[in-house]
Amino acid sequence: MEYPIKGFIETSFSDWPGKVVAVLFLPSCNFRCPYCHNHDLVLRPEKYPDIPLGEIIESLQKYRGWIDGICLTGGEPTLHPWLLSLIQDLKSAEGLIAAGVSLGIKLDTNGTRPQVLKSLIDGRLIDYVAMDLKGPLQTDRYAAIAGVTLEEEGLAQIESSIQILHDGKVDYEFRTTLIPTLIEEEEVYALARRIRGARRYTLQNFNPRGAMDEGLKNVAPFDERTMRRMQERVNEIIKEKGSSPQCLSSEFGVQSSESEAGKSANYSERQK
Ligand code: SF4
Repeated sequence: MEYPIKGFIETSFSDWPGKVVAVLFLPSCNFRCPYCHNHDLVLRPEKYPDIPLGEIIESLQKYRGWIDGICLTGGEPTLHPWLLSLIQDLKSAEGLIAAGVSLGIKLDTNGTRPQVLKSLIDGRLIDYVAMDLKGPLQTDRYAAIAGVTLEEEGLAQIESSIQILHDGKVDYEFRTTLIPTLIEEEEVYALARRIRGARRYTLQNFNPRGAMDEGLKNVAPFDERTMRRMQERVNEIIKEKGSSPQCLSSEFGVQSSESEAGKSANYSERQK
């Protein structure tokens, strides 16, 4: 089966902690985060030709036994009904199996499709998940940072995904990109408290260059010292005792959920 894979990086050292991975970029997204660097992939995916899976597998064969996995990013990969099939094809590709072991799969997601996330975890199709937490878990605040209208139901989906990861059946991290004009330092700590007990919570600095919203171009990111201090503080918070996610949704309805850079586009400054 062919898939609309829009970008491909053969090797990345920064997408999966401690691992060397290839990165595949999948089109479209249901969010419009103003800081998004992949906005062409989100808004105009047809701009990029599809990269045949066979071509990708052939390119990666030379790294067999050397790369650890493949990161599926976007866009929002869980929007696509063919995602499961793509992962199965990647895991079973003979040219990518080394010593009888398939490559690991990392999924980047915004957490809006908990059912998909759960089925991939239950099917043992993914090995690591990086889920974005866009901002405070309140509909108005979350919507403002994700650039969309978000109802209670939408927020409940995100909370379900948090719970699914918190259940610990797959390794994971939460991550938040910090835009000084959109999120307050105290809100970041409050968010960390809501996910207390999480394995990892990574703060990413905002990069104004190439953001979807041109109005952010003149916004200065947090300085490194502030970023370090905030990261240290959230690390402390998520390890505090009494750890269970305080965001458990009562509406939880999921049945218990850069060597050769982008051949079609340059996504080297990804901020999902
Ligand atoms: S940052 Fe991620 S979730 Fe937000 S619009 Fe871009 S691809 Fe979608």
